[in-house]
Amino acid sequence: MSFESLGLMAELHRAVSEKGYSEPTPIQKQAIPVVLEGRDLMGGAQTGTGKTAGFTLPLLQRLMETSQPHKGRRPLRALVLTPTRELAAQVAESVRDYGKHLPLRSTVVFGGVSINPQKQKLIKGVDILVATPGRLLDHVSQRSVDLSKIDILVLDEADRMLDMGFIHDIKKVLALVPKKKQTLLFSATFSSEIKKLANSLLNSPALVEVARQNAATDTVTQVIHPVDKSRKRELLSYLIGSNNWQQVLVFTRTKHGANRLAQQLEKDGISAAAIHGNKSQGARTRALADFKSGAVRVLVATDIAARGIDIDQLPHVVNYELPNVAEDYVHRIGRTGRAGNEGEAMSLVCVDELKLLKDIEKLIKRDIPQSVIEGFEPDPSIKAEPINRGRGGQRGGARGGQNGGQNSGQKRRPQARRKPAAGKNPRPGKNARRRNNNGNQVRNAA
Ligand code: AMP
Repeated sequence: MSFESLGLMAELHRAVSEKGYSEPTPIQKQAIPVVLEGRDLMGGAQTGTGKTAGFTLPLLQRLMETSQPHKGRRPLRALVLTPTRELAAQVAESVRDYGKHLPLRSTVVFGGVSINPQKQKLIKGVDILVATPGRLLDHVSQRSVDLSKIDILVLDEADRMLDMGFIHDIKKVLALVPKKKQTLLFSATFSSEIKKLANSLLNSPALVEVARQNAATDTVTQVIHPVDKSRKRELLSYLIGSNNWQQVLVFTRTKHGANRLAQQLEKDGISAAAIHGNKSQGARTRALADFKSGAVRVLVATDIAARGIDIDQLPHVVNYELPNVAEDYVHRIGRTGRAGNEGEAMSLVCVDELKLLKDIEKLIKRDIPQSVIEGFEPDPSIKAEPINRGRGGQRGGARGGQNGGQNSGQKRRPQARRKPAAGKNPRPGKNARRRNNNGNQVRNAA
C-alpha cells in the first residue's frame, strides 16, 4: 500500500517521499482515511509507530480542503496539544516538513523560553499551532491567540498529559474551542481517566489501535546486565568503549543522578550531556541537538525529559537505573527500534532493583534475558537497600498529578513505606505543591 492510495494529495506524498518513507506504517494506514473523512479518532499507538505523520498528513489536507477566504489575519484552525516541550518541538518539525509544499503556516509555543518571539509569530497569523497546555493558556490570557476558529484539535500523548497534571489546563482549552470541530486523541494507554476524557470529547470516534497495551516493542532486543550499584558507571563506560557505541541514550532515575553520570562519563573521556527538567530550555535543546548531530556521544536523561525524544534509528538505550514505574520502562525502550529499525535496550540492574525488575517483567509479560559481563559479576554478599527516589519522589509525584494517583486504571502495587533517613527531608505532604515540566504548579500526590 502506498501513501497515494490512502487518498493523500500530491503535495503531501511528495513531502513524505522526500523524508524517505515509501510505505505507510500500520497506524498511518488506519488513521489517515478516517481523519480525511472528517471523523473523530481515538488512536492507541505506542511510541515510534509513526503516529505523528498519521495525524499530521490528513490534518494538513483537511485544512487545505476546507480553507475559506478570510479578511485580515488568517485564523488559527488546527491546534495540537502535547505534554512536553520536546514533543511539541518535534511535532512542529513534522508539521513543517510534511506541509512544506503547501501554503499553510504553523508555529509552536511552549514554556521555559521567552514568550515575546512566540507572540510575534502568532500575531502574524498561523493556520496550525502546536503547544504545551500551560504556555498556550499564557498566550490566551495575553490575547496573542484566538481559539474560537479551531476546526481540528489533536491531543497527543493524552495519557501523559493527564499523568503530568494537565487536566485542568486541558479543560480550560476545551472551553475556548468551538463545540463543532474534529477531535483526534492519541494515547499509549487507555486508563479510566482517558476513557472519561474521550467520552466527553469525542463524537462517535473511530477507534484505531496498533499495538497491545504496554507491550514492549518487538523490534527491540532487551537484556539485563546484573551488576553492583557501585560499579554501574564503570560498566557503562566499558560497554560504550568496548562496543564502540557512538549514540547512546541513558536513563537515570533522578536529575541529580543524570548530571553526576554525565560528568563522570566526561571524566572517562566519553562526551556526554544531561537533559532534565531543571535545565533551561536552551540547554535542553542544545544537548538534544548535539546528541542528534553526533557531537555528543551519550545523552543522559530522566523520564520526563526524554518523553517524546525522537532520534532516527537510535540504536542503543541503557537503563542505568530501572524506573520506579514499570510503564516508564516501555516508554524508555520505545526510544529505540523505531519504525521497524532494530534496537537494543540494556538495563544495568543491582540487587536493590530486583523488585522493580519483577514489576516490569510482569507488565510486559515476559522474562528479560540476563547476561553477566565478565569482570563485573555482582558480589552476592551485598544486601538490597531501599532505593533513593530523589527529592520530592520525582515521578511518583508527577504520576499522581491531579488525578490522585489513579493513573492507569490498572491495579497499583502498594508502595513500600519507608521512614525518611535521619536528617533528610521527608517527602512533601499531601497538599504540597510543586512545579511540573511546564512550570505550572501541580498538587503532589505523595
Ligand atoms: P512517531 O511515532 O510519530 O514518533 O514516529 C516515529 C518515527 O518513524 C519518526 O522518526 C518518523 O520520522 C518515522 N516514520 C514515520 N512514518 C514513517 C513511515 N511511513 N516509514 C518510515 N518511517 C516513518
